[in-house]
Amino acid sequence: MRIVYATTEAIPFARTGGLGDVCGSLPNTVSALGHDVSIFMPAFRQIHQAGISIESTDLSFTIQMRKGISVGCRLLKSHLPGSGVTIWFIDQPKYFDRDQLYGDKRGDYPDNAERFTFFCRAILKAIQRLQLQPDIIHCNDWQTGLLPGLIRHDPDLRNDYENTATVMTIHNLAYQGQFPSRNFEYTGIGWEHFSPDAFEFFGSLNFLKAGVISADTITTVSPQYAKEITSSKHGCGLESVLQGSTDRMRGIINGIDELIWNPATDSLIPANYDHSNWRLGKTQNKGFLQNEFKLDPVSELPMIGLVGRLADQKGWDLILPVIRWHLNEGRPTQWIVLGSGDPALEKELRMLAKQFPSQIAVHIGFSDRHAHLIEAAADLFLMPSHYEPCGLNQLYSLRYGTVPIVNPTGGLADTVTDTTEETINDGTATGFHLQHPDPRSLDEAIGRALELRYHYPEAWSNIVVRGMNQDWTWRRSADLYIECYEETQIQDNKPRISS
Ligand code: ADP
Repeated sequence: MRIVYATTEAIPFARTGGLGDVCGSLPNTVSALGHDVSIFMPAFRQIHQAGISIESTDLSFTIQMRKGISVGCRLLKSHLPGSGVTIWFIDQPKYFDRDQLYGDKRGDYPDNAERFTFFCRAILKAIQRLQLQPDIIHCNDWQTGLLPGLIRHDPDLRNDYENTATVMTIHNLAYQGQFPSRNFEYTGIGWEHFSPDAFEFFGSLNFLKAGVISADTITTVSPQYAKEITSSKHGCGLESVLQGSTDRMRGIINGIDELIWNPATDSLIPANYDHSNWRLGKTQNKGFLQNEFKLDPVSELPMIGLVGRLADQKGWDLILPVIRWHLNEGRPTQWIVLGSGDPALEKELRMLAKQFPSQIAVHIGFSDRHAHLIEAAADLFLMPSHYEPCGLNQLYSLRYGTVPIVNPTGGLADTVTDTTEETINDGTATGFHLQHPDPRSLDEAIGRALELRYHYPEAWSNIVVRGMNQDWTWRRSADLYIECYEETQIQDNKPRISS
């Protein structure tokens, strides 16, 4: 099959979160399984800092964004490291040569609707110019949500795309790309298409809704999240649209990139280890981390790690009270936190680190090296997210023998099995679930984990080793995506029924 990925993030070129990990890894694996794969993403300023050569091409064209106003772009070209997958960059400095991808301190960039409408239209034009004739265009998140709608409704595209099917993946439903209706003008198609069965959502232009309504198949990044987003609690207002689409929707868990996340070969950690010598390896890494962050150099102290965005979603309202209890009461635990985001949370964490410097270390910022070091050094990893479409850090934790404590929602429920008498006996336990999403339950789960670690070392070792040996690689998920593409593609040159 010929498969095109449309995305705004792909490691190592640009990433703000899990989307970048997925779109830098899945295409490589799908290509290695024998498919013809290419990627389109914006030529953000960040792509030039990846240390990978990017060529200019002589392919350029313009898009008419408003009456009398055309915007040009040129295609740049490179390859994903580790494979021959071509990555095309849509280069238009006015839209994409900026400090950040989506916004700055003041909030989202005010022209995001224009920027990403341009991106979707430019991808479709570039595919025509390159004569790629894809079987599948796989769109990712709201920034590419208009694309399936444009294929269905733009008369200039119909012929060229009648044999192309679309897959729309929701990586996080909370981000939908909803804008005032006047922005619909940038799509270049008639206002008769600005209706609830396409682009309109209660009077606004909603990119993700357009993708959900128009795509041939919708996927999201875990089976549990696929169920949850049809409820009013997790549907972020789109639940009724999603309820009407369940026959086209499936959940596929993300994978982890074994070249990047493998404790036996990881070049970002001081001591490599595997399931046979994890105690020694993790103890050495802990010593290194304690030294670097000037924490008490006591190897027996349990180290509790946290890595992630400092955003409400991740459950900081549960985490902070628990950290305070441990520190104020002088409990024998050590904490290491890496993250950035909400300035109020950053400030609070910095203050705790200043007040209890031997017990908690905080690194505010984005640092791959520290993310790897924390996974390799910590004993426990906390992810009490209020919702979690898939989550990657709990998968890295399992792989690194760092037992995850999670709120069982979305992908966290699908990937971490709670430790109970039953799951210890049947050999399936890999972590700990919160009974309720509140600080008391988080503290109780930490208590259960520490009791097992210190009083039942053999059972603890089984849990660690079981997690390390599980297969959460992309190979497994890529097989499921390929199955999804095969079921979605337009068979026997029979065009889809146009809505
Ligand atoms: P989300 O996509 O909601 O942010 P995920 O767990 O799916 O959460 O993916 C987050 C990814 O970003 C992981 O690879 C994680 O290690 C990484 N990450 C998040 N914050 C940081 C940080 N401050 N420094 C380094 N890596 C980070």
